[in-house]
Amino acid sequence: MNLQLFDTSAGEKRLFEPLVPGKATVYVCGPTVYNFAHIGNARPAVVFDVLVRLLRTYLDVTYARNITDVDDKINKAAKEQCCSIGEISARYREAYHEDMAALGVLPPDIEPHATEHIEEMCDMIARLVEDGHAYAAEGHVLFSVESFDEYGSLSGRDLREMIAGARVEIAPYKRHPADFVLWKPAADDEPGWESPWGRGRPGWHIECSAMIEKHLGDQIDIHGGGQDLVFPHHENERAQSTCAHGGKSFVNFWMHNGFLSMNSTKMSKSLGNVLLVRDLRDEAKGEAIRLALLSAHYRQPLDWTDNTLTEATRKLDRMYTALQRADAAAGKLIPAADTIPESVRAALADDLNTPKALAALFELVRALNSSDEIRTQCELAGAIRAGGDVIGLLADNPDDWFAADQGDLDVASIEQLIADRASAKAARDFGEADRIRDLLTEQGIRISDGPEGTRWQRVAGGGAK
Ligand code: AMP
Ligand code: ZN
Repeated sequence: MNLQLFDTSAGEKRLFEPLVPGKATVYVCGPTVYNFAHIGNARPAVVFDVLVRLLRTYLDVTYARNITDVDDKINKAAKEQCCSIGEISARYREAYHEDMAALGVLPPDIEPHATEHIEEMCDMIARLVEDGHAYAAEGHVLFSVESFDEYGSLSGRDLREMIAGARVEIAPYKRHPADFVLWKPAADDEPGWESPWGRGRPGWHIECSAMIEKHLGDQIDIHGGGQDLVFPHHENERAQSTCAHGGKSFVNFWMHNGFLSMNSTKMSKSLGNVLLVRDLRDEAKGEAIRLALLSAHYRQPLDWTDNTLTEATRKLDRMYTALQRADAAAGKLIPAADTIPESVRAALADDLNTPKALAALFELVRALNSSDEIRTQCELAGAIRAGGDVIGLLADNPDDWFAADQGDLDVASIEQLIADRASAKAARDFGEADRIRDLLTEQGIRISDGPEGTRWQRVAGGGAK
């Protein structure tokens, strides 16, 4: 496949050629588990899931996505909620798994936990100290940025600018202001592990370097994460791993997704505009959330608005309607074709251009809608399903997709609510009447008042999960 991927390190798209023919190793920085995932956290998981699905169409892929289960934020949450860090991380790891499954994100092949790799981290730190790339000072171990000539080249930073730009007070034990922590001491009431440098815990960056080394080796094909990770996290991972492996190049392709904002503002807890995947799942199906996340190119910013999910649901309704009609004509569920439609494949091969791939799927849907010939319909529906598979969409049976829209209300309950609304109106209790109308709308029931009374219908795309 002529797969072009944008490599942050090169600053341009390059032809992807696996390090070992026929195979690919992919590592993506996973969540720090101290809270429910927000929709921004879901973006890298979904984007790299599409990448892995695409790579799997022609390569044997090993995909690892870690769980960061030791962190100041986890410690804080554990203290606040009076439980152990293990309980906090287990709770939010499970929640993360549920949320990602709802978005059609396939589990990675390997999901290493930081706390289960402390030995590997200490081992790597010891090698860095031995080779003069790191030094111990006051219970800390620091990486010496001056020991690595290429430091700063991934993020395009110059060491001299970093000194000038350093606003925070610099710890006195650092030889260079940009030196970063590999190991730090833990207070008695903080989680910690025994090490040659005293009881302490690892720095965040060394976690990924050690887990990659253990599970994927010294060199990997693709390393991904959100744009905010380029510096310092990935710059530091690169420095550690390259130095621990005698200068061997660490990552062939660095890939970073752009940020998700909300109604043009940055999503942040202090602004109170953080949208949890969990809550969005009450508003729309996971598949609609996934499609919404893929509607912009992964490197572009994605602005989430009040209409985003309605639009995504409508798009899926259109696609499933077309497939439902074709299935009905064929008298069976038309299976996915063996090959991905060329237009979808070409779009994804161009640096994972999902908006273009979705547009290509819609072209096929249009063609399907305008065809009356059963053979053509079968071909097109099979092609649409194959294209959907690689993007992680359209795996549902169309009848189930629409059936799930029907909410929990049965006909008797709907009729009862409509009668209650009529009584409320007669009693001039318009507030109550409106409340009942809203409740019905939420359940995907549209009502209209006419001369013969109130009529109702179920509408596709509204209502429940
Ligand atoms: P964290 O759990 O904060 O370590 O983040 C997990 C992943 O989500 C990282 O790859 C981040 O870069 C990414 N991420 C966090 N916030 C956003 C956002 N608003 N938009 C896109 N990606 C994000
Ligand atoms: Zn990482």
